Amino acid sequence: MRSRKWAILRRVPTIADFERMLRGAALRVTRPRLGVLTAVHAHPHADTESIIGAVRGELPTVSHQAVYGVLHALADAGLVRRIQPSGSVARYESRVGDNHHHVVCRSCGAIADVDCAVGDTPCLTAADDSGYEIDEAEVIYWGRCPECVAAPAAM
Ligand SMILES: [Zn+2]
Ligand SMILES: [Zn+2]
Repeated sequence: MRSRKWAILRRVPTIADFERMLRGAALRVTRPRLGVLTAVHAHPHADTESIIGAVRGELPTVSHQAVYGVLHALADAGLVRRIQPSGSVARYESRVGDNHHHVVCRSCGAIADVDCAVGDTPCLTAADDSGYEIDEAEVIYWGRCPECVAAPAAM
């Protein structure tokens, strides 16, 4: 079970918050880690390339490999969540621990958050859980975003 303690942070986090998060997860505070946390908070559902671009705004010399490594470490520690809708590259977000779901646009790939369908985790009760102790339900709703619905048929 992942820690839920960061999900309660609703105000805009500061560098001091990110330092606390890293220490709380027993991760050393480094500039690349702070940069990646800042980028993921500022750009929810960003892919790795966008995150690298954002981190390089602050740390121009950071390598791809360093950012990949940091994203993995932060995801393993539960500080960021990795999602990967089918047909999409991996995306990262800082909203963790609340089992929220996602709606993905089939046309442009835009992603938005969707709260749990019912109550709290795991929010969907399996008809037959096969004896598993279920703590998460990962749901992706597919459709078209408002911009694509409003756009004249461009296909
Ligand atoms: Zn769209
Ligand atoms: Zn999300």
